[in-house]
Amino acid sequence: MTLKAVKGFKDILPEEAKKRQRIEETARRIFEGCGLEEIRTPILERTEVFARGIGEHTDIVEKEMYTFEDRNGQLLTLRPEATAGILRAVIEHKLYNKSPLLKLYTMGPMFRHERPQKGRLRQFHQLNVEYIGSGSPLADAEVVFLAYEIVSAFANEDDLILEMNSLGCPKCRPLHRKDLVLFLKNNVEELCEDCQRRAELNPLRVFDCKNEECQTVLKFAPVIKHYICPECASHMGKVLDALEAFGIPFVQNAYLVRGLDYYRRTTFELKARGLGAQSTVAAGGRYDGLSSLLDGPDLPGVGMAVGVERLLLLMKEEPEPRRADLFIAALGDEARTEALYWIGYLRRQGLKVEYSLEDKSLKAQMKQADKAGARYCLIVGEREMDEEEAILRDMKTKEQEGIDLDDLPEILVEKIKSQGDE
Ligand code: ATP
Ligand code: MG
Repeated sequence: MTLKAVKGFKDILPEEAKKRQRIEETARRIFEGCGLEEIRTPILERTEVFARGIGEHTDIVEKEMYTFEDRNGQLLTLRPEATAGILRAVIEHKLYNKSPLLKLYTMGPMFRHERPQKGRLRQFHQLNVEYIGSGSPLADAEVVFLAYEIVSAFANEDDLILEMNSLGCPKCRPLHRKDLVLFLKNNVEELCEDCQRRAELNPLRVFDCKNEECQTVLKFAPVIKHYICPECASHMGKVLDALEAFGIPFVQNAYLVRGLDYYRRTTFELKARGLGAQSTVAAGGRYDGLSSLLDGPDLPGVGMAVGVERLLLLMKEEPEPRRADLFIAALGDEARTEALYWIGYLRRQGLKVEYSLEDKSLKAQMKQADKAGARYCLIVGEREMDEEEAILRDMKTKEQEGIDLDDLPEILVEKIKSQGDE
């Protein structure tokens, strides 16, 4: 039996890796341009970090985490999301002492044991942003702005829908919860098994249920919008005003909740038409209570995650083909040895240079030059060595010229670099 990758874990082959590089480069440019700094935390944390941070009665912690005991009997989990680990690191290193506002980003793999399908994997990848230390509604708006910037760099803006909601705070949420629990109790027969359980443990999560019958019932459920306190309402208003000022279109969705317990006030999802059931490309919200949950100081925070696999589904353009600046076709031992010196020199000058590792005919090497998408091909065999002049072929115009071997590398650098400037 041949060995295969684990279900839900996918190889990223070169063609797709190239697309991902573009996503990562774009994200990095946008993040750094907005003054964010990168943080990289381990993909493995003590299970407690997520159990406490995300909440015991969430889908993630209840049924999606990759948790195991290591050889010392320590309970560990592959990170299902980034925020809890980053907060753990911020607290552990007291980063909040360095600056009252930390603007952090990270990117990398996350792990959840879910049913694999289009846009849903067991190892998937996210771009994450966390603003830690500010309760300002502008922090919320900035985080949404960043999500929108990245996604709209790869998707048609007309296909994007930004949904905003407020989940209230510990002051106003209990009032809503009481009414919601009562409503769910009165409608318990109509709810799916999962929702019946949620009704007891984590009632807000019923809004996240994908079951259609549940959704029909929930249309009549009390929504937080009618319960939020004046402070939460004012916060929400300012976030929405800022989005308008940024020129980002949005709709309000009173039924929008998040899968994670730690969200407060602002919550949002950026959806894209054309992705089918997995339409949410980016999501996030405010999590003012999380730091204290993890035994840190009472730090406000707001963050978001972009799902890279879903972004990939939105990317239409094909990846760029390989493009070498120069292919060196050398024939015979003497020329091949001399060529290695040039190759080393030219590569150090920043040129993309390729050549054949095997001793092949000129015809075969020219074919390889085409495949490498080479702009120029330098041909050097025994005769060229004797005459101290190599042949440079312009692969576009097919024109050829002689290049003196003496200053060959310098001449090539100048020629190819000036080409690039045109
Ligand atoms: P969903 O409702 O799709 O399960 P979620 O609420 O669990 O999403 P979040 O925890 O908010 O998702 O994660 C943020 C983003 O990460 C999602 O919007 C999505 O783009 C991506 N994402 C989440 N889970 C997966 C997965 N299993 N495979 C691929 N991408 C995912
Ligand atoms: Mg999920």
